[in-house]
Amino acid sequence: MARLKGIGPGPAPLSVEEAGERAAALVAPVAGTQTLPLSQADGRVLAEDILAGLPLPPFANSAVDGYALRFDDLAMGAETRLPVLGRVAAGEAAGALAAPGVLRIFTGAPMPPGADTVVMQEDVRRDGDLVVLPPGLRRGDNLRPAGEDVAPGERVLAAGHRLRPQDLGLLAAIGHDQVILRRRPRVALFSTGDELTEPGRALQPAGIYDANRALLRALLTRAGAEPVDLGILRDDRDSLAVRLAEAARDCDLVITSGGVSVGEEDHVKAALSTLGTLDFWRVAIKPGKPVAVGMVAGTPFLGLPGNPVAVFVTFAFVARPMLARLAGTACPPLERLPVRLGFSHHGKPGRREFLRVSLAPGADGVPLARKHPGEGAGSLVSLVQSDGLVELAEDLPPAEEGSIRPFLPYAALLN
Ligand code: AMP
Ligand code: MG
Repeated sequence: MARLKGIGPGPAPLSVEEAGERAAALVAPVAGTQTLPLSQADGRVLAEDILAGLPLPPFANSAVDGYALRFDDLAMGAETRLPVLGRVAAGEAAGALAAPGVLRIFTGAPMPPGADTVVMQEDVRRDGDLVVLPPGLRRGDNLRPAGEDVAPGERVLAAGHRLRPQDLGLLAAIGHDQVILRRRPRVALFSTGDELTEPGRALQPAGIYDANRALLRALLTRAGAEPVDLGILRDDRDSLAVRLAEAARDCDLVITSGGVSVGEEDHVKAALSTLGTLDFWRVAIKPGKPVAVGMVAGTPFLGLPGNPVAVFVTFAFVARPMLARLAGTACPPLERLPVRLGFSHHGKPGRREFLRVSLAPGADGVPLARKHPGEGAGSLVSLVQSDGLVELAEDLPPAEEGSIRPFLPYAALLN
């Protein structure tokens, strides 16, 4: 992908996609597996293909409450009267239907041998011991044949798949109580900044509480990683370097926030240059231009910006691809929805810009996006009070009110 036009001094920034791809290319899937019960497997990545050991459904059964019958006993084009010869409920063994007649049957009950069709109870009349069956039934109606959904031996889930609730349901349906999973990537997490105070402590003069670690711990957990929270680093190149090198020894990835810009107190890049390599540090994205990606003492490193909204946005586009690859799974594609802008926005060209917006129903069915008034990269409350991000491409003309633009709901960024 072509480099974007440079902004200011330093190397040309990478596009959002190129940054995600290059960051992911620096990491390799973690080795090591873990066997866990299904109750602990949601969101985890399968280390093995899953083959069904039995058909689904395991036996032919009724899809409805009604009457099982032999299609050939029905009169063509007219009502049929047949006696009720027996009854079968879910979990019971069914006796055969060997003579003209019907068997009362309930949803999930096995089909009686000989019967090939079920009529819904709502569609019949009772007439003493007889049922009156309507014309127009088809052979096989309301019957769920064995193996209709899954054939025995079929691969139902592939290694590398990240398990969702419906996958866990399917695993249980084929009789699994546990699965072999990839180990979660261990991600060391630091904040940097002399102004930062741990929440719960007294706030220092000129201090702010460290918001990024709380944000990142949860983002990491949702992305399938195991955060290893290592606290706050002071703005000092040498102590930064020592702590980053220690973290690199025990973790699969080291993430920091803050200190990656070009200010005199931004020491993360400098520490990195003594410890390893810097692959890139500028991305054409707003909020979030400075994002340092490289290696620290042989371990992949990601230095996110300091402003919390920039942390959130760059995590979505740079950290998620890295974490997915580390976890041994594909990064879920981000699906944009079209929305109509309820505002105009004339940003700086050359950077992909993400605006925090709330959605309202639109007159023509296309949701209407309203920009949050808090546009600063430090405004966490704007992230809290909005629904997602409108994406303004770097190469498009300014966004005018009424135009249609892509929207990313926050929910899509949180897995
Ligand atoms: P920096 O890139 O270190 O200059 O930080 C940019 C801005 O983000 C500054 O206003 C910092 O105070 C703020 N910031 C940095 N780290 C955090 C954090 N962990 N929590 C909240 N704000 C932060
Ligand atoms: Mg700082």
